[in-house]
Amino acid sequence: MSTLRVDSPVQYVKGVGPQRAAAFATLGIQTVGDLLHYYPFRYEHESGEVAIADLVPGTHATVRGEVLRVGGRRPMLRCEIDDGTGQCILRWFNQDYGGRSLFRGATVIASGRVQIYGDLAELVQPRVQVFAPDAVLMTQGAGPRRVGVYRGNQQCKSPLIRRSVLAVLNQAQLPLAEILPETLVQDRGLLPRAQAVRMLHCPPDEPQLAEARRRLAFEELFLMELAMALRRQRRMSLQQAAVLHVTPEIDARIRARFPFTLTSAQDEVVREIAADLQLGRPMTRLLQGDVGSGKTVVALYACLVAIANGRQAAIMAPTEILAQQHYANIQRYLAGSRVRSVLLRGKLPKGERDAALSAIENGQLDLVVGTQALIQKDVAFNELALVVVDEQHKFGVLQRHEFRTKGLRPHYLVMTATPIPRTLAMTIFGDLEISVLKQSPPGRGNILTKVVPRDKWETVLGYVHGRLLAGEQAYVVCPQIGRSDEPETSTPPAAGQSTRGAARAPEIVTVTDMYTRLSEGPWRDLRIGLLHGALRPADKQRVIRDFTAGALHAVVSTTVVEVGVDIPNASIMLIENADRYGLSQLHQLRGRIGRGARDSLCVLIAADERGQSGERLAAMVASTDGFAIAEADLKQRGPGEFFGTRQHGLPELRVANIVEDFALLEAARTDAFALVKRDPELRAPEHELLRAALRALFRDKLALIDAA
Ligand code: ADP
Ligand code: MG
Repeated sequence: MSTLRVDSPVQYVKGVGPQRAAAFATLGIQTVGDLLHYYPFRYEHESGEVAIADLVPGTHATVRGEVLRVGGRRPMLRCEIDDGTGQCILRWFNQDYGGRSLFRGATVIASGRVQIYGDLAELVQPRVQVFAPDAVLMTQGAGPRRVGVYRGNQQCKSPLIRRSVLAVLNQAQLPLAEILPETLVQDRGLLPRAQAVRMLHCPPDEPQLAEARRRLAFEELFLMELAMALRRQRRMSLQQAAVLHVTPEIDARIRARFPFTLTSAQDEVVREIAADLQLGRPMTRLLQGDVGSGKTVVALYACLVAIANGRQAAIMAPTEILAQQHYANIQRYLAGSRVRSVLLRGKLPKGERDAALSAIENGQLDLVVGTQALIQKDVAFNELALVVVDEQHKFGVLQRHEFRTKGLRPHYLVMTATPIPRTLAMTIFGDLEISVLKQSPPGRGNILTKVVPRDKWETVLGYVHGRLLAGEQAYVVCPQIGRSDEPETSTPPAAGQSTRGAARAPEIVTVTDMYTRLSEGPWRDLRIGLLHGALRPADKQRVIRDFTAGALHAVVSTTVVEVGVDIPNASIMLIENADRYGLSQLHQLRGRIGRGARDSLCVLIAADERGQSGERLAAMVASTDGFAIAEADLKQRGPGEFFGTRQHGLPELRVANIVEDFALLEAARTDAFALVKRDPELRAPEHELLRAALRALFRDKLALIDAA
């Protein structure tokens, strides 16, 4: 057999051939290189034993470990074992484990069905063999103790993949060149590449597996950060933007427009922006901060810098309503100034519109506010120097905006109200400058969050009733409008009926039921509104208007209140079926209260306080900091889920996990940015393989390297 190369078709691997090669293709494996980088997702001992850490609920498994504890109340028996990768429980309901005595320190081999309760896996009614602590067990023979289990499919199953990988690994010299610079491998104490790949498929032991993982995870993260560093480098070196000065006079004049002093968080961000704007290269800065953290004020500061330098600025909002809100806010701050601004509405009369467009083109207007569609499509600027993009809640979709302007490329400030965990910011937005407004403007009350079980519902309603009579307002949030997906509970409970005893399935309380229940029951003396997506727009607006005006004590609503509603007097929120929401959504919902000076109350009503939903509720109680919550959300759901199906243009990570490998990510980022600083286009001979790897990885996804 001739030597295999990385790009040899997989068909030439011993035992594969054309037919199986077609099967491999269904998994995206075309070449020997693809095969080598198709890593196991878990491992088995050759004996068929699995590591406790790898136990999969619902499967039948055999584990081997040392007994830590034996207990349980007769006739039950519970035994905790540890195999160095983790602990699990063996449980019998009638002590029929074979009659031998289990004792602390004994070695056991146990086989049974895996279930997960709480944090620990359990084998239920397992068959078990018990050995003395120092017994030498026959199955611990020669050869690799652990073999990989691969994610396969019908055509191409794990054993075929394993056999084929082993056939390649049998080749004395793996066709895998080192792509990382040698100094990096040494400084970071990394395993050589080929060795790491070999070990990841067939790890001799736990520590070596960890080392192999570390090396390959570092490589993935390093390549990703290198792409970010190159993209940033390219933007910095190729493009020019207006130099905008912030003199002490300009700074003082701008600050005088605000009826308050900037918070120190705002001050810091303003300093960062001012520094960017005078570099002559286009700023691309992401400004993160919860709703109400004072982003708009910072954005206006930046716009006024551009205007003070004789240029134009634009603010783009995702919807026309938000554009109007921005404009109205800004008008308040600009009252009496010489800044000429315009709100570009969709439905301007033609004459007015033409006049505005030509004024913008002639430079007679300084500040343009509108939706992204309007501003990009219609407007030719005279000299646009700064664009503020308000992304609101959608992120991960930073588009390239194209503008018609006579000047240089504009500076960008992108605002988002979605807190982005640091790990994600470093990956998805790794080529951007990032500012964070953590501290909110002064004068807001605190939010107290409580988790309350269903059977305390009446008590909560009574308590809140008192606060509503005393002048506060409340949101009551329920999951959905109709019962279409809940046929088994098609008769709504009588008004005011307690939900106690509804121990059947976790009950879903719909928005209309809740409305009826409250307005005919415990809150019958209060004025209550109903708000959901199926209402006619006019009715919706009426409810919001009445609530804003204080004419309603409470609004029973679906999650439509999540965005855009700003009613400082609303200081109470009851979230029904809170265990059914994701963390980020709970946080956005809660963001509707806590906007006034008064302390607010958020009550999470939950049927299920165990497991993941319990963790979510606990995270909500523990913090009102959007960043802490986003971190917790990311940890719980993982990056894929956190983003949903949204396209974020990142390469798939096979080994690294940006949450768990955070320290490694930071190291990789530092190294990548340093390398690009030394060799901005990766032209040095020792970076040739790196360059090729990067090109292969990103292919045409990001036109990164070749355009340079
Ligand atoms: P965001 O755009 O992040 O939602 P805004 O900039 O609209 O936040 O500010 C929210 C509210 O806080 C506004 O009413 C604004 O007037 C007020 N505000 C902003 N900065 C300050 C400050 N430094 N001191 C006091 N109030 C402030
Ligand atoms: Mg705002």
